Amino acid sequence: MGVETLDDIAREILNCKKCDLYKTKTNYVPGSGNEKAEVVFVGEAPGKEEDLKGEPFVGAAGKLLNEMLSKIGLRREDVFICNVLKCRPPNNRDPTPEEVEACGDYLVRQLNVIKPKIVVCLGRFAASFIFDLFGIEFTSISRVKGKVFEAEMWGRKVKVVPIYHPAAILYRPQLREEYEQQFKKIGELLNKKGQPTLFDYL
Ligand code: URA
Repeated sequence: MGVETLDDIAREILNCKKCDLYKTKTNYVPGSGNEKAEVVFVGEAPGKEEDLKGEPFVGAAGKLLNEMLSKIGLRREDVFICNVLKCRPPNNRDPTPEEVEACGDYLVRQLNVIKPKIVVCLGRFAASFIFDLFGIEFTSISRVKGKVFEAEMWGRKVKVVPIYHPAAILYRPQLREEYEQQFKKIGELLNKKGQPTLFDYL
């Protein structure tokens, strides 16, 4: 057997029956983007729009994410975007520990294929899962948001950046400026040559 690819993992997800969410979902949402991405964005679980389209972050929160990405010169094709859960929980309820346990291995394998330099956790569910995986102690999203954590993975250093979930910014627009600063920081981490980003002209 050769080295696993993102397509191999997606094919497996599209037949998954590891938990009961496959019974209520419309589409599986494996994730999308670049297999060679330097940065991976991890959300919680597909919402209504994502479930209908089979693509992550295509609803209102996704539009905000796209806007933030474009401000740091990134297109969705440059990064990889996915969720801890690959199926929508009914009525967007919180994922259960059993669902995270059943589904989490897909995300671990996706990260092992991509081996990104930076993992951005969107919200507390993603942050708690990724911190656990990288052996970092998770307290609460409000304590860790916007900080850059370093962990040893794939034989080198990987940066873990927890930030609020974009949906939180839609509910609390007063957090938007802070959110833009956090994306600016992600842009700077990626942009070793110090080239200006759109934020520098605003
Ligand atoms: N919220 C998430 O956590 N993920 C999505 O894909 C969409 C909304």
